[in-house]
Amino acid sequence: MGYKIAVIPGDGIGPEIVREARKVLDVAGKKYGFELDYTELFMGGASIDVNGVPLTDETIAIAKASDAVLMGSIGGDAKTSPWYQLAPNLRPEAGLLKLRKSLNLFANLRPAYLYDELRAACPLRDEIIGDGFDMMIMRELTGGLYFGARHTEEVDGVRKAVDTLEYNENEIRRIAVKGFEIARKRRGKVCSVDKANVLDSSRLWRAVVEEVAKEYPDVELSHMLVDNCAMQLVRDPAQFDVILTENMFGDILSDEASMVTGSIGMLSSASLNETKFGLYEPSHGSAPDIAGMDKANPIATVLSAAMMLRYSLDLDEAADAIEAAVKQVLKDGYRTGDIMSEGCTQVGTVRMGDLIAERVR
Ligand code: NAD
Repeated sequence: MGYKIAVIPGDGIGPEIVREARKVLDVAGKKYGFELDYTELFMGGASIDVNGVPLTDETIAIAKASDAVLMGSIGGDAKTSPWYQLAPNLRPEAGLLKLRKSLNLFANLRPAYLYDELRAACPLRDEIIGDGFDMMIMRELTGGLYFGARHTEEVDGVRKAVDTLEYNENEIRRIAVKGFEIARKRRGKVCSVDKANVLDSSRLWRAVVEEVAKEYPDVELSHMLVDNCAMQLVRDPAQFDVILTENMFGDILSDEASMVTGSIGMLSSASLNETKFGLYEPSHGSAPDIAGMDKANPIATVLSAAMMLRYSLDLDEAADAIEAAVKQVLKDGYRTGDIMSEGCTQVGTVRMGDLIAERVR
């Protein structure tokens, strides 16, 4: 079976970490009988250097015609890079925002998984960590407060600013469907997070999620208020499987959830549209401070590639194999500098990629 993958290495450490993810994917392909046909594309700073703009229409068209997009990260050092002398709409990040919008990526997925070997990096107490946690934060990405009408005015000498939080039922339904589908690939639990005791948009959110839940009797649905969820994430993170929430709540909760895993180089992410199509990228940035030094941890990108196999290509067994290989490498005591601890063996980006690839069974 063959699939078309658009690859955006990007800037900084992007090309290094994407190279390792491809190495691992290719080994998985041989073992599990699929082939990935990659088209490399420029975006962000790399595209500014070549095309004068951070994203071209041709790049968007190729990405759209692919089964999925695998990305490194984009951007440079805002203080020293000439990209940041350009107008805001011509800077690297503008390319990423435009790409997400053009591809209609409305569902953002960020897993927060605690590897037993990295418990020391978790800021929570041992009795709270217990046997660890494994959750998926699903955030609505294209609606709500960040996209509603806003303005600032002065009335009788008093400044006033207004932001609008708006959702319609179709926007809620499509992300809820994704949430329940993803839960089916996991432990079958959805916790929908809102502020239904105060906000109308949250009351509609809750009503529509309950309607969608009727189509998924095998998935257990619960509701939680966002302020309680923020507390529960640090009190008992193991209770969560899929957390389904709107844009702003998800923005805050996904950062909180990822920080309790303690390690930026391990955090994968996906952004999906209504079909199986998605864009897969690590949650971290382009780390210009360590670019080209063989220091970057490629695991977040490798795990993003595993998500791509699972959610866009339905190659769950190969995704499981990659995730198991990452666990095995950590168990065998190999670490990149960012997750290094006493008694372990420190390796660089390329060696880490090799070690994971060797362990894909
Ligand atoms: P960053 O995530 O790039 O780096 C923060 C710190 O974490 C740095 O010390 C870096 O060395 C370290 N780090 C990050 N990823 C690592 C990895 N895989 N292995 C080891 N260490 C790692 O954040 P920043 O420095 O604030 O941003 C740098 C650039 O990245 C900026 O241009 C920013 O706009 C961009 N950025 C891009 C994305 C994206 O492409 N989606 C996301 C966030 C930031």
